[in-house]
Amino acid sequence: MADVPTFTRSVKPPEHSPGAYFALAAVARQPVHRPPQESFGASIRNLLAHTQSRELGARAALTGHPTRIPTKQDMRNLFCPRCEQRLLFEQARCVHCSQLLAFDPAALVFRRLDAVRPCLNRDLIGCNWSADPGGPYCCSCALARTIPNLGSIKNRLLWSRVEEAKRRLVYDLCRLKLPLTSGGGVRLAFDILSEDAQDGPILTGHSAGLITLNLAEADDVERESRRVALREPYRTLLGHFRHEVGHFYWELLVAETKLKSPFRLVFGDESLDYQDALWTYHNRADRSYDRAAFISEYASAHPWEDWAETFAHFLHIVSVLDSVAGLPLSLQSRALEALRDPYLESDFGALLASWMPLAYSLNELNRSLGRDDAYPFQLSDAVSGKLHFIHMAIQSHQHRIRLTAPAPVARS
Ligand SMILES: [Zn+2]
Ligand SMILES: [Zn+2]
Ligand SMILES: [Zn+2]
Repeated sequence: MADVPTFTRSVKPPEHSPGAYFALAAVARQPVHRPPQESFGASIRNLLAHTQSRELGARAALTGHPTRIPTKQDMRNLFCPRCEQRLLFEQARCVHCSQLLAFDPAALVFRRLDAVRPCLNRDLIGCNWSADPGGPYCCSCALARTIPNLGSIKNRLLWSRVEEAKRRLVYDLCRLKLPLTSGGGVRLAFDILSEDAQDGPILTGHSAGLITLNLAEADDVERESRRVALREPYRTLLGHFRHEVGHFYWELLVAETKLKSPFRLVFGDESLDYQDALWTYHNRADRSYDRAAFISEYASAHPWEDWAETFAHFLHIVSVLDSVAGLPLSLQSRALEALRDPYLESDFGALLASWMPLAYSLNELNRSLGRDDAYPFQLSDAVSGKLHFIHMAIQSHQHRIRLTAPAPVARS
């Protein structure tokens, strides 16, 4: 495979300021309402001040509230519009009452198929979303710039898996209120390419808003053999998408904001030659890396890859927490509050406090079934600090949206 590294020369370990890790670790351990460290700069201070005020409001609202999560429809609470049976996000038909269904991505609810216009890809690849008002496709399928060669049934099956993972990604982005177009007007787009229609290998990656995915990544045997060859603990379609889209949002959340200097403190200097860094990474002889500093080996390749890897993990965490909120579990009131909407939770410490025991339990459950860990990663203090930075960058964006949103009109 093209992306299997060859080992031809030794390289020195990635350069990263140890001081930055300790600063981060300290911030990650802090309750959010304490003053942030000076080194994080004014924008971080402002952001945390904003976070504090929202958090205090949330805590005040907690007192006297019953510890129950509202039953609005979201990932954890999807119901059949006909018989109210619980549904999975990927379902196109209710197994209880046979009602044909379409997920409405604007309202985030399932509707009866006969009440909406289905995405044009429904018959072809089983897309279960309703079409955008302005076009034949749903808002996820509409992001495809190039679809794979459909000359074989296998390619069609693999493409349907790719689009299923992409719909989860687009759902995440909707919940996080992240736009599909950058500040500079570049729209997120996807090329899903099969090697049987190309000369040469297809490398999965991101460039200026365009995400390229090799269709072979949807083939379980192929993807697993790549995972083993690259000695990765985790390799999924959704993981690929959550990583690649992180590159797209670096522009919006960091490069176009005041967070660029704090980014360098946390992740390192991204002005280092990117191609050179990747070449060095893929040709390294020494495969050891600082496990306390990076969420994965690939994160050590370049600060942009570190950001993208950590961004993907942030999406993993809020998505799983969102799913777990619908389970009939007994939880402390603060945990329940954090699970009200993990995508918009302002207190990173509360997210992390819910995530750590859950990740442990997920792995225990999987091991009980004789399977590998569901989440084969350790969140060190430094990595938690990086996740905290991503949380702050997204919160800052959500705050900007609120500031620019038109004032709500009073209902009569
Ligand atoms: Zn039903
Ligand atoms: Zn669709
Ligand atoms: Zn990347």
